[in-house]
Amino acid sequence: MSQGKIIVISAPSGSGKSTIINSILEEGCFDLDFSVSATNRNPRPGEEDGVHYHFLSTEEFRNAVDSGQFIEWEEVYPGRYYGTLRSEIDRMLRHGHNVILDIDVRGALNVKKIYGDTARTIFIAPPSIEELRRRLEQRGTDDADRIATRVGRAAYEINLAPEFDERVVNDDLDTAIARTKELISAHIDN
Ligand code: 5GP
Repeated sequence: MSQGKIIVISAPSGSGKSTIINSILEEGCFDLDFSVSATNRNPRPGEEDGVHYHFLSTEEFRNAVDSGQFIEWEEVYPGRYYGTLRSEIDRMLRHGHNVILDIDVRGALNVKKIYGDTARTIFIAPPSIEELRRRLEQRGTDDADRIATRVGRAAYEINLAPEFDERVVNDDLDTAIARTKELISAHIDN
């Protein structure tokens, strides 16, 4: 049995990343398991512990950091920690499964450093910062301050896009899903 491969997807919020990942997972066309990260943020409505995240208290998260349970972890927003559990990744790879990670840009680049050619990093980009701002405004879930924060962070993330193995611009959703699938397929079959 060959070892599984890692796909890491990052994108500024509002780029359609979750929609793309969910559509690929639902289609089930690759032997692909989702790596469930740990976080100290509260669950949102509809989110389940162990499915979307392992929801930990801040103390539990710190203990997990201290005992080396994370491959990488980041304070993605002030006071909000997210980490990739070693146990999730290693178990899946050992069993020959491929694994997909939805993590922030710094986490993605760290996973690439650790796993090298086993991992392929894909950056999903909005067509432009202006378009991203328009989508966030249209979504209507954030007030003006939060939109400004997200847009500022997006600019920082887009600057790191050249360090990823691959970039997909989400101009048209179906095209972006198809392109992402091609990239995953090429990596898995390689
Ligand atoms: P959200 O709170 O909206 O679910 O996620 C916020 C951000 O944290 C997203 O950019 C997501 O990709 C990132 N994230 C989720 N899990 C991890 C993780 O394990 N490590 C890192 N570095 N970022 C993560």
